[in-house]
Amino acid sequence: MRLSRYFLPVLKETPSEAQIVSHRLMLRAGMIRQEAAGIYAWLPLGFRVLKKIEQIVREEQNRAGAIELLMPTLQLADLWRESGRYDDYGQEMLRITDRHERELLYGPTNEEMITEIFRAYVRSYKDLPKNLYHIQWKFRDEQRPRFGVMRGREFLMKDAYSFDIDEAAGRHSYNQMFVAYLRTFARMGLKAIPMRAETGPIGGDLSHEFIVLAETGESAVFCDKRVLDLPIPGDETNYDADLSEVVTQWSTLYACTEDVHDPARYEAETKPEDRLETRGIEVGQVFFFGDKYSKPMKAVVAGPDGAERPAQMGSYGVGVSRLLGAIIEASHDDKGIIWPEEVAPFGVAILSLKAGDPAVDAACETAYAALTKAGKEPLYDDTDERAGGKFATADLIGLPWQLIVGPKGIANGEVELKNRRSGERQTLPLDAALKALGA
Ligand code: ATP
Ligand code: MG
Repeated sequence: MRLSRYFLPVLKETPSEAQIVSHRLMLRAGMIRQEAAGIYAWLPLGFRVLKKIEQIVREEQNRAGAIELLMPTLQLADLWRESGRYDDYGQEMLRITDRHERELLYGPTNEEMITEIFRAYVRSYKDLPKNLYHIQWKFRDEQRPRFGVMRGREFLMKDAYSFDIDEAAGRHSYNQMFVAYLRTFARMGLKAIPMRAETGPIGGDLSHEFIVLAETGESAVFCDKRVLDLPIPGDETNYDADLSEVVTQWSTLYACTEDVHDPARYEAETKPEDRLETRGIEVGQVFFFGDKYSKPMKAVVAGPDGAERPAQMGSYGVGVSRLLGAIIEASHDDKGIIWPEEVAPFGVAILSLKAGDPAVDAACETAYAALTKAGKEPLYDDTDERAGGKFATADLIGLPWQLIVGPKGIANGEVELKNRRSGERQTLPLDAALKALGA
């Protein structure tokens, strides 16, 4: 992409309404625009990151055996009356009436709808297990939308729903999602720690929240810091095998949010030098809740003995749009964002220090063509802004690499390559720089 043709409305001033660094940086880097409280337009740069995060989530869901579909954002109120949640959900639910006076709602989650879909088609244990997911906008009329995309009212969520014949199989589905989440967040460069959690309005008795540690997080957390060094399951993970060992390994060391924190147990189970008390951001949550929805909604399947029983269910959410904020909270400096490679909106910034100079233009064009061809997604700053402004923008938007092309260097056939994270700069021939970037 050539910056002169792109839409990147960066802000020079720090927006005063933003209280935390990720919100400030997303506004300054021209990633989002607030359209109403907790409702954002995703500008091109933000949209690219959102899509990358979504794709990692999708790949890891698919790898774990979940199947993607897409349910609508609007749902019938009657469906929620079947589970009893229509009244329980309260003011967080956005209720809508259509021209025929039919009551609808903008879905805050999809347990009811997926249960309705399941019961319409599945009758036998032979069709199980099934885990169905979608990546869809949700609406929750949060009392205090804040911190930008971290606590929006409209937000993008991945939600998966598992159906099994009995509790043991249901727990295996839970373990599959637990392991998939460890991999998903690690691929985004995050350390997300599973912590025992309360089940809240979703219900059930088994749940973990995946928490990214950050001082600006909304919940206080208490954990044994050795949990930070546990190994992430690799590409070779066999999701059909018993995964309980991995889950046990990751859920044994003490790790709790304030809601379920037990000071006496904390003291008994951790050594003083291992204690870590900080704050965290919830980026995902997994639940196993058995027949909480399948029973009232009569989603029953026949077992091998021919007898019908309610399906055993779990649900598994990831805050796709919240993840942008969480990643920035975990990875930035005073100059701007530092994107982990896997989610960076572009792979490398090509900074022309003298647009219009024939030798500089030619070198930039060569680099742009080669990097594009190699799939490195370059963003070529071909504008006539002064060098200082270009450096500031490149640091602000946080692409992993900057390829700096100036007239003096090019006279010697050389360019500069800067790593955004380490700040390290090296001067080298253009060819060598392109090779270092994988082109
Ligand atoms: P929270 O405790 O932060 O309000 P929740 O527990 O109500 O979240 P879940 O029902 O577990 O949320 O939803 C799954 C995921 O969706 C959460 O782990 C979180 O990452 C994300 N999420 C929930 N509410 C919001 C929101 N208002 N804005 C952005 N993301 C959200
Ligand atoms: Mg939650």
